[in-house]
Amino acid sequence: MINLTIRQMAGLLAEKSISVQELNGVFYDRCRAHNASTNALITLNDELNAAEILHAQQAIDVGNHWLAGIPLVHKDLFCTQGIKTTCGSNMLANFISPYNATVVDRLGQAGMVSLGKANMDEFAMGSSNEHSAFGPVGNPWDLTRVPGGSSGGSAAAVAARMVPVATGSDTGGSIRQPAALCGITGIKPSYGRVSRYGMVAFASSLDQAGVMAVSADDCALVLSAMSGHDPLDSTSAHASTWAWEKPQDTELKDLKVGVTRAWIDALEDPDIKQRTWQAIEQLQDQGAQIIDIELPHADLAVSAYYVLAPAECSSNLSRFDGVRFGHQAEGVNDLESLYRQSRTEGFGEEVKKRIMIGAWALSSGYYDAYYLQAQKVRRLISNDFKQAFAQVDVIACPVSPETAFEHGAKADGVSMYQADQFTLPASLAGLPCLSMPIGFSQGQNGRLPIGLQLVGRYFDEQTILSVADKYQQTTDHHLQLPEAFQ
Ligand code: GLN
Repeated sequence: MINLTIRQMAGLLAEKSISVQELNGVFYDRCRAHNASTNALITLNDELNAAEILHAQQAIDVGNHWLAGIPLVHKDLFCTQGIKTTCGSNMLANFISPYNATVVDRLGQAGMVSLGKANMDEFAMGSSNEHSAFGPVGNPWDLTRVPGGSSGGSAAAVAARMVPVATGSDTGGSIRQPAALCGITGIKPSYGRVSRYGMVAFASSLDQAGVMAVSADDCALVLSAMSGHDPLDSTSAHASTWAWEKPQDTELKDLKVGVTRAWIDALEDPDIKQRTWQAIEQLQDQGAQIIDIELPHADLAVSAYYVLAPAECSSNLSRFDGVRFGHQAEGVNDLESLYRQSRTEGFGEEVKKRIMIGAWALSSGYYDAYYLQAQKVRRLISNDFKQAFAQVDVIACPVSPETAFEHGAKADGVSMYQADQFTLPASLAGLPCLSMPIGFSQGQNGRLPIGLQLVGRYFDEQTILSVADKYQQTTDHHLQLPEAFQ
């Protein structure tokens, strides 16, 4: 049961081999059983939500929708009415939102059943899920290692099959990198495809909601239900409604796949290098034409992103002042001390560091030298992609330079930031991109998952998902389960 795809589960629900209550009971019990070891969830609902179960069962009884009755968890930065939304922070440790994020509402309307909220790096800042006020998350493939971040709880929950699907958010790689490190599939759609309403903001020009699941087909079904214009988010595009068309065959005829050879050759991990080439060869065997491309400014992405994202975060997080929003310090007598003490107590180290960097980069005298320069680099990177997409339909490249690393291995911030080098370029360009499992390492670190990134043209989720779906129809890496969670 736990390793079925959404379509298989929907089939069982439709033919009444299993009820919504039973299916969700199976996953809910797994959440209970495995949350202590993984720490994947910050909140597990006290019990199954009877109203959601009833709504889903009724939708199925009248023959509605693939997603009705499918359980999921939401990353804990999507506002959920009546259930805590902590954003992984002490600042919001007791925050209960009075409304639902649009993503939560849309998936609820489609009949999905929410079991709880997934752990994450505080305010989505991080690549290891170690920066959570609610403790680090263990990677189900090796609990001493990180699941990646910031959507590490979502990734671990799916990898351990505590749920078949989870929502995530990706500002600079937070869906793709944990998906790769946990051996699952994850898509960050084009900027503007999915409403950000009710998703706690980190860096608004980059944040995008997406899906983490077992397969590309599962991701696509859920993404279809999430996407579309939302009048409540002025950056959600008007033409963003989209419905997934699952390919009927496994051929990639006429598809041009661009490959950033220099990135792959520079990989230090021989397993990742070998698996990446092997996956690209397999795309070729399925009929794709492989074309070398260059993204000459992409190696500036880390520097540009770590100016732009902190700049935007320093502005977004200024609302948490202990008066209007967030934790309020006690025992202080004047307004300035209240602000200072509330923020000192509420935010963790990484968040404070980014606020300081961002405020500095935006301050007069430094704005031109840093923020404006970084914006120019962002444009150059976008232009690189435009040129590449004049020749190719999809770009295939690594997701992460390494497999899951041990907790505490990247205590200095900069080496953690470097781990984002392959995911940041597509984020800065706002392009749709996904990570899919392509095999495992065999080295001294043991058997750890490896992912391949596929980047598409703006608003062309259909092509990257089709390529991943066709690849997954002829491979089974995505169906592997960690031994301790079978
Ligand atoms: N790892 C990146 C960061 O720390 C990306 C985070 C994200 O995508 N939310 O900012």
